[in-house]
Amino acid sequence: MPELPEVETIKNELMPHVIGRRVAGVTLGWEGIVKKSSPEDFCDRLVGQGVTWISRRGKYLIFSLSSGQALVIHLKMTGSLLLNHASDEPDKHIRAVLHLDNNYQIRFRDPRKFGVMWLVEDASRVVGKLGPEPLDVNFTPQALAERLAKRKAPIKPLLLDQNFIAGIGNMYADEALYDAGIHPLRPAASLSQKEIAGLHKAIQQVLRAAIGNKGASVENYFRPGGELGTAHFKFRVAHGLGGEFCPRCGTPIERIVVRNRGTYFCPKCQPLSNGARSL
Ligand SMILES: [Zn+2]
Repeated sequence: MPELPEVETIKNELMPHVIGRRVAGVTLGWEGIVKKSSPEDFCDRLVGQGVTWISRRGKYLIFSLSSGQALVIHLKMTGSLLLNHASDEPDKHIRAVLHLDNNYQIRFRDPRKFGVMWLVEDASRVVGKLGPEPLDVNFTPQALAERLAKRKAPIKPLLLDQNFIAGIGNMYADEALYDAGIHPLRPAASLSQKEIAGLHKAIQQVLRAAIGNKGASVENYFRPGGELGTAHFKFRVAHGLGGEFCPRCGTPIERIVVRNRGTYFCPKCQPLSNGARSL
């Protein structure tokens, strides 16, 4: 699933081509992609609008429109936004096309059809409850510590909870916990101040490095030009892509299932504390 670095990459790479352009037409290949409006109403309201800005919040893309409305997009499991010329051959997984006024198109490619679009008066109707942005200046080690305090939940599911912290998914949670030397089942409130500071640093480093590598192409993620990201080549544990053994100590990497998510970690570098045994 595209996470913060993948969505940030899509935003960065679409912006120079899309800002200032007008939506000349919309084609829906899969009407279920539109939420909270009828497909007809969605297309009627979107056509003719200029795109004034693109921003990202968590794993959501927000297209600011000339009317003041917002087109909000979530790519879910397998979505990508491709920028193509109108004459480029479409593939069978294109679920929606925004035709721009310069003969280019934004194509929403989504093999599994979980992706979603909303056209709303105010983006906060969709993204209003998200937790803090992990790369925001206000997201300090102290802010993370305050959010973790008194939380009995294991740390990994908390990192995946978008209302706790926005943008992190299964891949970058595993990478950050590995970097910080924290077992994924440690109760959040059991982390020391030093561990929290280490986790904060690890989250930011892992996300920044992945943005620098244009995201991870582990499933169906493509950049707007159709290229792949390369962040997954740097994975130490996520998805088992770092290999069978811990790159730091050589211990076999373990896989467990945490709240239905395959979770990879090094049992030596990320020891389980006593506190987690009661879970
Ligand atoms: Zn290790």
